Amino acid sequence: MIKKFIRKILGVKDERDPTQPVILGAEEHGIDPKLLSPNAVRVTQTLQEAGFKAFVVGGAVRDLLLGVKPKDFDIATDATPEEVKKLFRRAFIIGRRFQIVHVMFGQELLEVTTFRGNAVNNNAPKDEHGRVLRDNNFGPQHEDAERRDFTINAMYYDPATQSVLDYHGGIEDIRARILRIIGQPEARYREDPVRMLRVVRFAAKLQFTIEPATRAPIPVMAPLINNVPAARVFDEMLKLLQSGHSLACLKELRASGLHHGLLPLLDVVLEQPIGMKFVTLALESTDARVRAGKGVSAGFLFASLLWHQVLEKWNAYRAANEAPIPALHLAADDVLDNQTDSLALQRRIATDMRDIWAMQPRFERRTGKAPYKLLEHPRFRAGFDFLLLRCESGELDAELGNWWATFYAGDIAERERLINTAREPAGADKKKRPRRRGPRKTGEDGGVQHDAGVQAAGTDDE
Ligand code: ATP
Ligand code: MG
Repeated sequence: MIKKFIRKILGVKDERDPTQPVILGAEEHGIDPKLLSPNAVRVTQTLQEAGFKAFVVGGAVRDLLLGVKPKDFDIATDATPEEVKKLFRRAFIIGRRFQIVHVMFGQELLEVTTFRGNAVNNNAPKDEHGRVLRDNNFGPQHEDAERRDFTINAMYYDPATQSVLDYHGGIEDIRARILRIIGQPEARYREDPVRMLRVVRFAAKLQFTIEPATRAPIPVMAPLINNVPAARVFDEMLKLLQSGHSLACLKELRASGLHHGLLPLLDVVLEQPIGMKFVTLALESTDARVRAGKGVSAGFLFASLLWHQVLEKWNAYRAANEAPIPALHLAADDVLDNQTDSLALQRRIATDMRDIWAMQPRFERRTGKAPYKLLEHPRFRAGFDFLLLRCESGELDAELGNWWATFYAGDIAERERLINTAREPAGADKKKRPRRRGPRKTGEDGGVQHDAGVQAAGTDDE
């Protein structure tokens, strides 16, 4: 009793048998069953009726405990992927590195994973830095819990009994709002360096404190991100930027030394004061959109993050006597080529970025038919929002943004009046087509080949 009291005062966590979960009933955890997706209940019930164990797991349980409606539901079971597939009409086994089953009900996708054995104790293939390359060893539930990332992400909820199974003190950490990695932090980051980015994302999104031992190795181990395939880093970065807390995430990335050298994108963005204002405004409006339940386009996001790098190069090409529009295309080529090496920007996203950038000089032409033509551009709205950001950040005169806002909203007479009173900017260039330099490494649109689209969360990625 006294020993327990002293340990509590010293903040030492009670050592419990990691193979035995703490089980909490409905009155203790207080989860509101109405927040559950009926399809998640259906999947666990079907599996249980077939004699298997089945639980809602991971982020969904964390969100339920925080009283937040989960955006998607993952299910963990002791049934193998083949056994799961047989029980559902629309079920597909996907993934190589980490095999899972996608079960579809209408538009809703549920990810069903078989309990994984502990990768530390098994012979999962690793690269020369210790990163786990493939992990399809199944194991008991307590090992599945142990190989999850954070204590708050390693709880299981059984809708039938309404009980929560907690192997790693996740409930306590949820209550104390602490983000704590399971196991030895260095070893866990070595197995999968993306976990360092996940620390940043969850801490910012949930506004949890990062437990000191979880945080300590990150600045030293940050360069390990370089060994992770670029497409996976990109997926995690996109999740981070679309989390509704992108600005907080970028600040935290910087505070933990994660941005340096490993993501040139962020080096560029965060280390130039002029660009910082623009990026801050862009991310603030992104966060506001996400929190209002609206979508944010990845193209717009990355176009904003890289704009000041484009601007710098654009000015340099112009100073070297290149005409403005070709100069802008050359600058865009440079930035996209450089970036796709480290962050696999998908072709579709790179095309959107290029469209948004290329539209910018066209906003300065306010006479004749040019403004009407620009209005018809399929991506006009994105280009216009981008222009407003440029004005707001002080890069351009606010008068230009106001002119376009009035023109956009105006009727025919108003538009004619605006065109008749508009000024043509000095040095506007209409004639020259962009000049291409030699073959580019990337596809025609400036993006690397990456045709699978943005991967679903948690797919093949763990
Ligand atoms: P979100 O709300 O952003 O989807 P999440 O916790 O559900 O958060 P996912 O990426 O969907 O995050 O992963 C689902 C679960 O899989 C996590 O809660 C965690 O238990 C486990 N997991 C995901 N990625 C890793 C990883 N890199 N290492 C260990 N466990 C992981
Ligand atoms: Mg999830």
